[in-house]
Amino acid sequence: MGKICSRCDRQAIYHRAYSGEYLCVQCFKRSVEEKVVRTISKFGMLRYGDKILLMVSGGKDSMSMLRILSKVVKSHASEVLVATIDEGIEGYRRDAIEISAEACAKLNVSHHVFSFKDLFGYPMDQIELLKEGMSSCSVCGVLRRRAMDIAAQKLNVNVVATAHNLDDIIQTFLINLLNNDIKRLIWNLPVHHETYLFSQKRIKPLAEIYEEELALYAFLNKERFQEVSCPYMHEGIRTKIRSILNELETNHPGIKYSFFNSAIKIPEIITTPTKERKNCEKCGYPTFANKCSVCSILDLLNRKNIRQK
Ligand SMILES: [Zn+2]
Ligand SMILES: [Zn+2]
Repeated sequence: MGKICSRCDRQAIYHRAYSGEYLCVQCFKRSVEEKVVRTISKFGMLRYGDKILLMVSGGKDSMSMLRILSKVVKSHASEVLVATIDEGIEGYRRDAIEISAEACAKLNVSHHVFSFKDLFGYPMDQIELLKEGMSSCSVCGVLRRRAMDIAAQKLNVNVVATAHNLDDIIQTFLINLLNNDIKRLIWNLPVHHETYLFSQKRIKPLAEIYEEELALYAFLNKERFQEVSCPYMHEGIRTKIRSILNELETNHPGIKYSFFNSAIKIPEIITTPTKERKNCEKCGYPTFANKCSVCSILDLLNRKNIRQK
């Protein structure tokens, strides 16, 4: 590129189109880390003495989150724990768990694995055979959210951090709109309080970082991460939306960032006071129906499983 860094006199390796800056390796890495710190303080994500659980899947985003937060959180004098959810997908999850465990050992952070098999009785590989009309990603998503709740409760933390980046958030926002899934918009916020059962706060510290910059950050840190994607993933619409948004960004640098800012204001405005909550008749978990979504899925799997025996 031949350009000099806008912040120092080293050789630039990255052009940040939306700000016009050219950045060298060091200044780029520092700028990503500083942005995460700003996001954390802007949204009031962490408070002194918080006990935080990082959900680490072993992919590039969560590995970068682990790297950045284990640095940042030290200054908050908080405790950091890491959990990885093992969905039970042969040949896919094992590497990721190993990568996460290794990174945690290096950083001296405790690492915990929660498996679908232990929590729900079925690994994803078996669910695949029993799920009938349900989509793998939606079943997995429902169970993963519950696994996260259980992990947070067992490890007794008050904050749970996931590695969603800015692109994830705006893609999900659009998908929810297209699916008429307005009630889910609230889950997509950088900070979300699960006040009704557990008191943990859900945070997304990478919410203001572009996916492209996180990929570069992981690359420059020579981060080891899992590159294989889930064999059951069918991301038709997300892939399309991702490419539309990337094309818009190329022609209008910064547009994703302004979209992000609308995407986080809208749920606040439209969220109406919650309707009356019930408790699931089977497991007692809070739900709006008589039976929660996890128990409904498990009932279906059990019926199919008995029929096959
Ligand atoms: Zn520089
Ligand atoms: Zn239930």
